[in-house]
Amino acid sequence: MAPQKDYYQVLGVADNATPEQIKRAYRRLAKKYHPDANLDDKTSGAKFKELSEANSVLSDAAKRKQYDQLKKYGAFTGGGARRSGGGPSAQQGGGMRFEEMDLGDMGGIGGLGDLFSSIFGGERKRRGGAERGESVETVVSIPLRVAALGGKVPIIVPVTEACPTCGGTGAAPGATLAICGECHGTGNVSFGQGGFSVKRPCPACRGRGRVASQRCGTCAGAGDVRVEKRVMITVPPGTDNGSKIRLKGQGPRGSGGAEAGDLVVNFQVEPDRFFSREGMDVSCAVTINVAQAILGTKLKVRTLDGKHVVLRIPPGTQPGRKFRIKGQGVEKGGVRGDQLVEIGVDIPAKLTEEQEAFVRKFAEAAGLKH
Ligand SMILES: [Zn+2]
Ligand SMILES: [Zn+2]
Repeated sequence: MAPQKDYYQVLGVADNATPEQIKRAYRRLAKKYHPDANLDDKTSGAKFKELSEANSVLSDAAKRKQYDQLKKYGAFTGGGARRSGGGPSAQQGGGMRFEEMDLGDMGGIGGLGDLFSSIFGGERKRRGGAERGESVETVVSIPLRVAALGGKVPIIVPVTEACPTCGGTGAAPGATLAICGECHGTGNVSFGQGGFSVKRPCPACRGRGRVASQRCGTCAGAGDVRVEKRVMITVPPGTDNGSKIRLKGQGPRGSGGAEAGDLVVNFQVEPDRFFSREGMDVSCAVTINVAQAILGTKLKVRTLDGKHVVLRIPPGTQPGRKFRIKGQGVEKGGVRGDQLVEIGVDIPAKLTEEQEAFVRKFAEAAGLKH
């Protein structure tokens, strides 16, 4: 029996939850059940899918309204008519029972739309089980330098693609295709009770309308395979922790030849050993010796670009003093921030007798207590 799917229950929010509450609940749960964070737990993938599905409906005002209406009409609980009193019971031709439906099997919101239109006599907009691929989000770590200045990074995305052996048909090479006996080639089956007739992709032929005499060995007849796709992505300059970009059509392919979903890339900036970011500026620390601090010097300082600039340190520079190198910071919208260089001074921990004598002489000449 298909699992019960009340999208509000899936997200653990009340039926009258605000969009903000829905967003927060989804974020929290999606983080917890993200397949990348639960490699040992095979159920987390299904849970994650369920969450995305619930979120895709409830976070969209129009879809949510449609869903709420559907719920109210008793299509899920069978109780809508009964609760209002005097109506027919579910068994006698009221709503369909909630537990008998699996919106996921029906193709998410597409299925919901289909369900809605079939209840109210509308037209099916799409043929067969065609359904646009879902959007998936992936977290990508990038070096600070790439985040600050932009660049390209390769990423590996697990996606569902058409099986290379059978080209997505699910049939073994050389197998013959026959019209599916379950759906008579339409790709859909109707089910329901009483006045309701609901269409869903035919489970026997997976909505294809044809069945193969022998199933493809590579994909076991599913027609698609999970592959790791390598994609080069462009990181925009000025990218920060949590910045996102949406790559249209780079997500999992749709079913029944529908277009692929989007890939949403969520950037995480790796900490750098030398640089840290402060808004549009980057800062770094450089240590000089005591003679350089007293007498002044010229320093070669590495910049984000990997080049070096010469920084003049004046005589008498105090530890902790910051120097600003203009235009070597984070780039954003065609402008660049600065690079801040904080100077540290290394005080020798051990002196030779001769060195110590010099320092004492120096202190006396300078009138310093010691
Ligand atoms: Zn195959
Ligand atoms: Zn069929």
